[in-house]
Amino acid sequence: MKSIEDLPVSGHRVLLRADLNVPRDLSDPEHPRITDDGRIRASLPTIQKLIDRGARVVIVAHLGRPKGADYAERAAGGPSLRPVAARLGELLGRPVAFATDVVGADAARVVAQLTDGDVAMLENVRFEPAETSKDDGQRAGLGGRLAALAQLYVGDGFGAMHRRHASVFDLPALLPHAAGYLVLAEVAVLRRLTQDPARPYVVVLGGAKPSDKLAVIENLLDKADRLLIVGGMSYTFLKACGHEVGHSLLEADKIPQVTAVLAEAARRGVEIVLPVDLVGATGFAPDAEHEVFPVTAFPADRESLDMGPATRVLLAEKLADAQTVFWNGPAGVFEFPAFAAGTRAVAAAISRVSGLTVVGGGDSAAAVRKLGFSDDAFTHISTGGGASLEYLEGRELPGLAALEDAG
Ligand code: ADP
Ligand code: MG
Repeated sequence: MKSIEDLPVSGHRVLLRADLNVPRDLSDPEHPRITDDGRIRASLPTIQKLIDRGARVVIVAHLGRPKGADYAERAAGGPSLRPVAARLGELLGRPVAFATDVVGADAARVVAQLTDGDVAMLENVRFEPAETSKDDGQRAGLGGRLAALAQLYVGDGFGAMHRRHASVFDLPALLPHAAGYLVLAEVAVLRRLTQDPARPYVVVLGGAKPSDKLAVIENLLDKADRLLIVGGMSYTFLKACGHEVGHSLLEADKIPQVTAVLAEAARRGVEIVLPVDLVGATGFAPDAEHEVFPVTAFPADRESLDMGPATRVLLAEKLADAQTVFWNGPAGVFEFPAFAAGTRAVAAAISRVSGLTVVGGGDSAAAVRKLGFSDDAFTHISTGGGASLEYLEGRELPGLAALEDAG
């Protein structure tokens, strides 16, 4: 894979695909607040290098999951990348020009006005339905229109590299390209996790939904020694084991697949650890009344927003002898301080491990920073959640493969 040193960027327009999909507080939808700018900061070394070398930098990125049949509907519904461009400008200490469309008249105008060392950002690339289309022709069309804006391409959006999207997968083939510093750093750490990790190798998986991560679990069964299942996805596992989970997050249609995963893990001798107690709240709210219940006696009218104290102790034990740890997905609704204790306990236990420890995922990274852990409490805080997981499974990431092609 080429790095940006190998590209003649000076005086040229460089499309930089970055991952700036930052978590936001949406309680005031008119003024969404960036709650963790880690992904913007992680993109700075590459952007700064391109500026220093006199490139004209055009940043392509996505934010959230815009909904709507066409560009107009999506652009109307948002979210716009404009606040992210403003934050990037603050961190760089220089203005970042913002195009109000992706490949339209405003993008052409903004790009034409750049001089050497300038930075511009295009509007949310997922406003273009072709970005995520399954249709190769549609994606190639958008790739071509993006390619027309620049002469070179740098791929640095690690968190999106598992996606076969136009700006990640199709575009690099159309321009001379290289990988940015963030991608090179992420791959270097993840390679250490896949090449003969020191054992026991413990993987902690949490977050919202099992459907996001069931395939990962199946693939990790022949890599990890122990899987700790926490957070929103744990309730489907508990339900599959016959427990009442009340109104907690549940994907009932995934129960057969979860049951199969549990059987396969048992067959292979991979230990799967589930919560033994849960914090049951009266509703999904920061100030909801709550009590701790054992998983064997969870009330049908409660909703779990965190794991309980006995589980915090159990997981700390299960992490104490680990030599290698990968963690993705918060253990509770850490955004509400009353339900952050489980996530804090997982972070603390992992921070005590002396071997290689990697935390991956946008919300997981935001959680550890919000809970006051410094970045050096872990070997590495990855910007990628899904991308890191797919790399660990041994799957080829389309965005990485596209950068590896000669170009
Ligand atoms: P990441 O971005 O790190 O990959 P995910 O996006 O998979 O993580 O999951 C993060 C979300 O999961 C957080 O917003 C958190 O509130 C939610 N979550 C975790 N535990 C629970 C739970 N018990 N109930 C509901 N949501 C939960
Ligand atoms: Mg997330």
